[in-house]
Amino acid sequence: MRLQVIDPNANFACKSCTRCCDQPWLTLIEPEKVAALDAVDWVAAFPDMAGRTLYRRKRRGSTTVVELGKGDGNRCVFLDTDGLCRIHKTLGYDAKPRMCKQFPFFAARAWDADYVSANYGCRAIQEQAGPPMSTQAEAVRRLVPLSDVPARPDAQFTLAANVLIPPVVAAVLRERLGRLATGDDETAGGARDGIAARLARMLALVQHAAATPVAELSKHLAAGFTPSLDESLYLAFASAAEAPIASRFLFAATLFPDTLPPDSTANLGFFRRLSLVPRLMALTKMRGVYASRFLGRNVQVDEIMCAPATMVLDDEGVALLGRYLRARVWQQFPGGTQLPLCAALHQHIMDVNAVVFYAIAEARRAGHDRLGVEAVQRGLMHVEFHLATQPRLYHQVLRGYLRGALADPACAWASLRMMRCARAALAVS
Ligand code: SF4
Repeated sequence: MRLQVIDPNANFACKSCTRCCDQPWLTLIEPEKVAALDAVDWVAAFPDMAGRTLYRRKRRGSTTVVELGKGDGNRCVFLDTDGLCRIHKTLGYDAKPRMCKQFPFFAARAWDADYVSANYGCRAIQEQAGPPMSTQAEAVRRLVPLSDVPARPDAQFTLAANVLIPPVVAAVLRERLGRLATGDDETAGGARDGIAARLARMLALVQHAAATPVAELSKHLAAGFTPSLDESLYLAFASAAEAPIASRFLFAATLFPDTLPPDSTANLGFFRRLSLVPRLMALTKMRGVYASRFLGRNVQVDEIMCAPATMVLDDEGVALLGRYLRARVWQQFPGGTQLPLCAALHQHIMDVNAVVFYAIAEARRAGHDRLGVEAVQRGLMHVEFHLATQPRLYHQVLRGYLRGALADPACAWASLRMMRCARAALAVS
C-alpha cells in the first residue's frame, strides 16, 4: 500500500500574509463549485467587485477548466481588503478551490511513498511558523491526495545514468545529504560552511557514491565518510560570462518561465517555445539588460552576477537556504525535477543560483548593500512559486542536451563556480 510520509522538519501555520493569493498564476476552481459562487450576490456584499470578472471557463485540450478572475494587479478577485478569502468568509472553507486549500503542501511521489513537504515560497514555511507538519498529519492527508500508483518498496533508486542503489542505502545517503545541506554534519564543515561549500560537499558525496560499488558505499556511509573538499574545484570564475556555455544555458533554461510574456503559462506550443530561444540566448551571455516578468522590471544582469563583496548573505539567509535544500533532498525525487539524484542536485544548484539572482535584484531595488534574509525570502518566493513548480524546459525542448548537461558532474562544478563568482555572498564561513 502506498504511504504518505510528512516532512518531519517543516513547520506550518498560515499567517494570512496573502502572498499566495497575489501571484500571476491562475487559480483554478473545480467546476462543481461554480454553482455556489453563482448563488451569491457578490457586488451587494462587496461593492468593489462591481464590474469584475469573477471567473471564466477555458478549454485546455479536451477538458474545460474554470479560472478565477483577478482584482488589482495579480490579486485574486476574491481576496478581501482584510487579507481574507471572500469565498471562505461567505460560503465556508469547503467552497474554496482545492488548490487554495492544499497550498503550501505538495507531494513528491517516490517508489515507496508519497513524500509530503511544503512550498518554500510560503512565508510561514520560510519562518517556521506554527507546529510541525508531522503533528498535522491527518489534516494534511485530507488535503493531499495519495497517488494511485502502487508502491514498489524494493525498487532501486537512480543515482546517475546506469547507477542504481537499493532503497535502504539511498535512505542513508539522503539523510547524510540533508545534514550537509543544513550544516548539521560536524564531520564536514558544519554550520561554518556557506551555501556554496555545502553544495560542494553534497556534490562531492554524490559523485563519490556514483563511483563506488554499493557494498563499499554502505560501509563508507556507515562510517560517516566525508569526501575531502578541494576548494579549487569550485573557485569563482572571473565573471559569470566566463562559465562554460552549458552552465550559462542551464541557468537561462531555469529562468525560462520568467522570460515569457505576461499571461503566458510555462506550457507553450511548439512555435511559442521556439520564439523563446533568442531570449534565452540573450540571457546566456550573462550581461546586458534582462526583462524580468517576476520582478516587473528590467535588470542589468552583470550588475547582479557580479554583486559587490559587501552583498554578504547573512546567517539567517544561509540557514533558510539550507533548510530549503534539505527539503528537496528529503523528497528523494526532488520536487520539480524527476531526475536522477546527480542531475537533480545540479538543478538545485541552478535553483539556488536563481534564488540568489532574484535576492540580489530585490536587495538592490530596496537600496540595500547586504543580502538579508528578507531578500532571500523574496528570491525563494519567485523560484518556488514560478520556476521549480512549473514544467522545466528539459521536459519540453532540448531534452537530450539539457538533461545531458545536468547529468555532467564537470558542468555541475562549473555551475557552482558560476554561482560563487556572482557573489562572494555565498562563501560565508
Ligand atoms: S479563492 Fe480565496 S484562497 Fe484562493 S486565491 Fe482567491 S482569495 Fe486566495
